Amino acid sequence: MTEHFTGSFTQQEPIPEDGIAAALDVLRNGRLHRYNVAAGELSQAALLEQEFAAWTGARYCLAVSSGGYAIATALRAVGVGPGDPVLTNAFTLAPVPGAIAAVGGRPVFVGVTEDLTIDLDDLAARAGQAKVLLLSHMRGHTCDMDRLMAICDGAGITVIEDCAHTMGGGWNGVASGRHGAVGCYSTQTYKHMNSGEGGLLVTDDADIAARAVLLSGSYMLYERHLAAPGPEVFERHKYDMPNISGRMDNLRAAILRPQLKDLETQIARWNDRYRVLDEELRDTAGLRLVARPEKEAYVGSSFQFLLLDWADDAIREVVARCGRRGVELKWFGAPEPAAFTSTYGHWRYAPSEPLPDSDRVLRAILDMRVPLTFSEEDCALIARIIRAEVGAVYQAA
Ligand SMILES: *Cc1c(COP(=O)(O)O)cnc(C)c1O
Repeated sequence: MTEHFTGSFTQQEPIPEDGIAAALDVLRNGRLHRYNVAAGELSQAALLEQEFAAWTGARYCLAVSSGGYAIATALRAVGVGPGDPVLTNAFTLAPVPGAIAAVGGRPVFVGVTEDLTIDLDDLAARAGQAKVLLLSHMRGHTCDMDRLMAICDGAGITVIEDCAHTMGGGWNGVASGRHGAVGCYSTQTYKHMNSGEGGLLVTDDADIAARAVLLSGSYMLYERHLAAPGPEVFERHKYDMPNISGRMDNLRAAILRPQLKDLETQIARWNDRYRVLDEELRDTAGLRLVARPEKEAYVGSSFQFLLLDWADDAIREVVARCGRRGVELKWFGAPEPAAFTSTYGHWRYAPSEPLPDSDRVLRAILDMRVPLTFSEEDCALIARIIRAEVGAVYQAA
């Protein structure tokens, strides 16, 4: 009998009960705006920032309205302005070049390797082309961050990390988002904590932190933050930063605080599922798995494999056959952007030169989400379906 998978690749777990209770408290007191506090009260947003700063080991943290907003704010806070070039990954998702465009910057794309990380040789070659790197740890794959930082430090490049897929990951014992000047995270529904929309930004740099708080729309109420620098730092910037409202509200923060407490457990559960997929797909002819270096701490909330040098039609056939059996694969090689999946060539507002080595990799990438509503048995079934359909198409070719 042909096996079918019936789970939903977009169904996350419910918000934990203590998050629901905390949200109801906020709804009942009506003080949803982060600066709307009763006498002596600390706002949920300020508490979340304090807790997230402690969790990442950062000095400062700011909660905002989305991951894309966090990135754009970081870019602005480090001084990127109209016309400025910004190095970034050719393999990433649309909010990354979008954030550069939002501040009037110009993305300069850096290639991707077969390990799905930024091509460090290409980065070194382009190091003279910009003063800022917006590094996307796309789909949770972390490059050799020691080498990346050596390249960037050597060239005087400020690094902003997009940790939308690496919240809770790291490299060589350093948490993701803590190598560069700023780490940016998303709490959108499909990421590692879910508040519908939301973002977090961390930094150890007091001036960047103060600028970011002011930019997010703090109405000179910055003393109500618990993970921001002192007022003397704000004095240096408060007349120069436009208010570009993008604050997080107390409702979202209330939902997130209990999730942060559970995050380590959730990461372990994601990685249990990831390992089942990885093991079940080992030694599938024609299919290349992505190696996970020993120094990398990853969160297996999504899974990728490569069909390197396959014909487009054969890849389409695999996607179609898996789809008919309930396994939803996203292909980064499609000529037209589809749903969340697009690549540098699609972003016409950001002109680029073709990157042939990267195009070969991008054309080969198949991607799927692994929500925690899937059991390990579900993951084994998904892997069996992929293995069978890749095998069938490979044999026919
Ligand atoms: C989700 C995501 C972001 C931020 O997204 P928002 O929807 O703005 O929270 C940034 N980078 C990548 C790679 C993402 O997947």
